[in-house]
Amino acid sequence: MKPIIKIENLVKEFPIRQGFFNKQVGAVYAVNNVTLNIYKGETLGLVGESGCGKSTAGRCIIGLEKATSGKIFFNDVDLTKLNRKNLRKLRTKMQIIFQNPFSSLNPRMTVKDILIEPLLINKTFPKKEMQMNVDETLELVGLDRSILNRFPHEFSGGQRQRIGIARALILKPEFIVADEPVSALDVSIQAQIINLLEDLKKELNLTYLFISHDLSVVKQVSNRVAVMYLGEIVEVSEVEELYNKPKHPYTEALLSAVPVPDPMNDTSKRIILKGDIPSPANPPEGCKFNTRCPKVMDICYKVHPQLNKLNSNCSVRCHLY
Ligand code: SF4
Repeated sequence: MKPIIKIENLVKEFPIRQGFFNKQVGAVYAVNNVTLNIYKGETLGLVGESGCGKSTAGRCIIGLEKATSGKIFFNDVDLTKLNRKNLRKLRTKMQIIFQNPFSSLNPRMTVKDILIEPLLINKTFPKKEMQMNVDETLELVGLDRSILNRFPHEFSGGQRQRIGIARALILKPEFIVADEPVSALDVSIQAQIINLLEDLKKELNLTYLFISHDLSVVKQVSNRVAVMYLGEIVEVSEVEELYNKPKHPYTEALLSAVPVPDPMNDTSKRIILKGDIPSPANPPEGCKFNTRCPKVMDICYKVHPQLNKLNSNCSVRCHLY
């Protein structure tokens, strides 16, 4: 299968500055050497604790953050080599759905202005066709054109997220980064938005990078899942393989913490990780998970493990494999 997105050695570093002259005294490696393919038509789930770099990775892929180094290909075109004009043109094919529909929509703009803004910026649509495109997109996300002159504060969280999804779809993208698209919503609304995203994927032949800390939601929507820890991918697997036979000790711990429907009769063992996630400004030597890993060995303190391909479905970064 052909990757629509190919990421090679992606690094995003944020400098730490101090003092009167704002001198750089260190760096936070939010994304560290990430190499990943996202195949056309799939949903790749990206999971990990908050602060592990998953949102930064998503923002770098679609160009909202400038990567420090590494390459990002969209349909074999190297985005890091494009000039501004060509990059802007190509970016219409890659869009993002933000986590919080309460803060991601401009409260001073009507729904119509919110949806038309990307078309005006990108000059991709003849003015005559804009209204038709707005109406069609609203219909796709289950909203009526009668809301066009209303403001975001007049809507519920679920409706606002539908407007956010419509804004992402208005430029007819091929690839969408969904950055925690349901975590700010009530549980009752989450299922509706997930179903909507699934329907849109089929209808519009979309590819998703679905970023979430909620492993139950990721299991429901993903074909493959990548697990991130301290800026690195530690495991990538087909969804069934990852949930049934997790390999990396961090994946095992994450999955053991997923709430089960019948906790009274649950016999599975919880793995409680020691301590907090270390600071990305000062990660441990060797394996970055060695301060919390229940299976840590001597080699883990000295040698940084590589992401090894175990079979065609699964790659793991751990000395146990
Ligand atoms: Fe644990 Fe060592 Fe594997 Fe890291 S390399 S996950 S510390 S066993």
